[in-house]
Amino acid sequence: MNALKQEIATMIAHEGPITLERYMGLCLAHPRYGYYMTRDPFGAGGDFITAPEISQMFGELLGVWASEAWRLAGAPVPARLVELGPGRGTLMSDVLRVARISPAFLDAVTVHLVETSPVLRRIQEQTLARAPKMVSWASDVNETPPGPAILLANEFFDALPVRHYVRTLSGWRERLVGLNASGGLVFGLSDEIEPSLIAPAREGSIIEVSPMSQRIMSDIAARLVREGGAMLVIDYGYLETSLGDSLQAVSKHAYVDPLAEPGEADLTAHVDFAALARAAHAQGARVMGPVTQAQFLMQLGIERRAQALMKKANPEQAQAIVDAFDRLTGAKDPRRHMGGLFKVMAVTHPDMPDMPGFIV
Ligand code: SAH
Repeated sequence: MNALKQEIATMIAHEGPITLERYMGLCLAHPRYGYYMTRDPFGAGGDFITAPEISQMFGELLGVWASEAWRLAGAPVPARLVELGPGRGTLMSDVLRVARISPAFLDAVTVHLVETSPVLRRIQEQTLARAPKMVSWASDVNETPPGPAILLANEFFDALPVRHYVRTLSGWRERLVGLNASGGLVFGLSDEIEPSLIAPAREGSIIEVSPMSQRIMSDIAARLVREGGAMLVIDYGYLETSLGDSLQAVSKHAYVDPLAEPGEADLTAHVDFAALARAAHAQGARVMGPVTQAQFLMQLGIERRAQALMKKANPEQAQAIVDAFDRLTGAKDPRRHMGGLFKVMAVTHPDMPDMPGFIV
């Protein structure tokens, strides 16, 4: 049994079963054993690969979007450029490199990375050591300095804990993690019915909610309404709130049992974009999209960017550009292609005009 499993088992033995949300929070963010706290999970040798790690084109186009968002917000000085969950820092590095072509934007912003993992902070520091701007770190977006802000979040919300409610004959019950007779971790259900959930559904139906995602979106939307600016959210997820369980555990590019090795596998859930949009609307923000990642990147000109890079590429590099373009914008095979599964949504001050990527 690994150390985190031992600790969770002891916790359950003393306090009783814990919620899935708490379990997921411990697996990902336990200060000593949490998945993100202890490792660099990205890339071919890691557990999964993300768009900025696939190709520089992704971050470059987001950089163009960010500087355009700043201009459309009235070119405020100073402004904040904030990234949530920056991973290896690759996206911000590509964003800041292209931002050199809009020096007014680069001069106007201070750069803030919202990151809880000390291991990833160190990697981000190395990646950004020669960036054209100084970078500072925060553990929570509410710790970043006030002012108009352009915020980017790629594969951030999927990493936040979820709660599950399961429909039983007598009502909705919350999913818990408890112990079986031999001391192993098992899923179970709360003894108590959730009195506020009355949605009719067939027995066994699941409602998945992410209160932490909603709180973060709601805080950011309130800030954008108050101070101006825009946020871009990119993640895999669904457009309409619906019943179902999307919790998944991934280790070494394969699906594994989420209870088997706590802290060793990446635990994620698909993002409920409709719920995020409702949280943003409730604060008075404007929401654009979601559109598919393919639609967004095509409208931002990924084809032209790929062609420009091809002109300077050797045959091997040219093939890598073609492959990356296919992975980022293709939609046929959701295990390989990100273009259809991934969605892009912008949340802005209510007066923001239609933005690049969302123009119909
Ligand atoms: N955006 C990156 C990495 C995505 S992985 C990329 O596209 O490659 C998720 C990132 O969010 C990691 O950097 C992880 O450490 C960070 N993270 C997870 N939970 C967090 C939280 N509650 N607050 C801040 N960062 C968090």
